[in-house]
Amino acid sequence: MNKEEIEAKFEEIYQTKPDKAFFSPGRINLIGEHTDYNGGHVFPCAITLGTWGAARKRDDQKLHFYSGNFEDLGIIEVDLNNLKYSKADNWTNYAKGMIFYIQKAGYQVDRGMDIYIWGNLPQGGSGLSSSASIEMLFGVMVEKLFDLQIDRLDLVKMGVKTENEFLGLSSGILDQFAVGMSKKNQAILLDTNTLDYKYVPLDLKDNVIVIMNTNKPRALVESKYNERVEECQVALKALQTKLDIQALGELNNEQFDEYTYLLSDNETYLKRARHAVSENQRCIRGEAALEKGDLKEFGRLQNASHVSLEYDYEVTGKELDTLAHEAWKQPGVLGARMCGAGFGGSGIALVQKDQVEAFKANVGKVYEEKIGYAPRFFTAEVADGTHEL
Ligand code: ADP
Ligand code: MG
Repeated sequence: MNKEEIEAKFEEIYQTKPDKAFFSPGRINLIGEHTDYNGGHVFPCAITLGTWGAARKRDDQKLHFYSGNFEDLGIIEVDLNNLKYSKADNWTNYAKGMIFYIQKAGYQVDRGMDIYIWGNLPQGGSGLSSSASIEMLFGVMVEKLFDLQIDRLDLVKMGVKTENEFLGLSSGILDQFAVGMSKKNQAILLDTNTLDYKYVPLDLKDNVIVIMNTNKPRALVESKYNERVEECQVALKALQTKLDIQALGELNNEQFDEYTYLLSDNETYLKRARHAVSENQRCIRGEAALEKGDLKEFGRLQNASHVSLEYDYEVTGKELDTLAHEAWKQPGVLGARMCGAGFGGSGIALVQKDQVEAFKANVGKVYEEKIGYAPRFFTAEVADGTHEL
């Protein structure tokens, strides 16, 4: 999809040309899983898979929405003066939330719009964050159409509010931050404790990102996720009896090692904390590896991340393990790991371009034999955050 194509799609539906066109990426987290609620770092980047949109201002107060991914829903009409959550309005609630918070911040959005969107991200718990992609798409769309000049970090926070408060879904800031703030060929090292962040050059050379989707039906991730959050809190409490820390992310591996005796009567808490600490350190070490252009070391850290998520954090499952383990065996693979909350969703691998076809065939074959159905593969490169085309 490109600018001309999304504009043509708009014209097919609305019989007129759009004012502007946009792209909003999906995101992957290169390394740093389950660190965001432990005061640690995450290390995401935006990818070239994402959502395209075109829009035109109307003379009245009506919002018309059409998604090429949900053609059977047709045009969904919403009144600009009635931006409340409504189940019947389906996916347009993400757009309504963004416009609601933009207005609430004092910006004038005084006319309706015709909007067309289409995306190529697999949806629903795939771990690539199609919801943050469309939130930021609508945010930037409204900003540019109405010439509002909104600080990008404010839009990111409105995206989080849309997700948490407007739709009532729990999530951290990682997704919207990565989608909204990313730059082409750079990753962002984000400290989730302070929101300090740093762009780190990510030159993949002759490698691409292969996204390996498990195709596992949506698992009950939420309860397991909450269980991990609680386990880390218990471990932190035990460590706080001797250490003056607010979060596990404050510890390095050596400091943690010295105090593991405080967790020795419960292996589960020991393992959960060890992951939170070591994974955060892997982000920091990953940054150093990228700074010196050592993709091989970075890949090994990604592999180590998966091992830690598999054995210490126990959030992988046989589908993600099969993908990672088989990926490690393939020629031209720098690193591979699960990505996202775990249990299902997707993994990522950094693969040499000329090995990608063999990679997909080999990993896909073993996965299908072991799991009983095929995975899906997508290739992507490192993209700019949400922008006008
Ligand atoms: P993800 O892990 O992909 O973010 P979510 O369940 O959080 O999964 O978000 C998926 C939801 O976002 C979809 O069910 C749909 O409501 C909305 N969505 C994402 N992409 C599109 C699109 N291209 N068109 C319409 N709705 C979309
Ligand atoms: Mg989402």
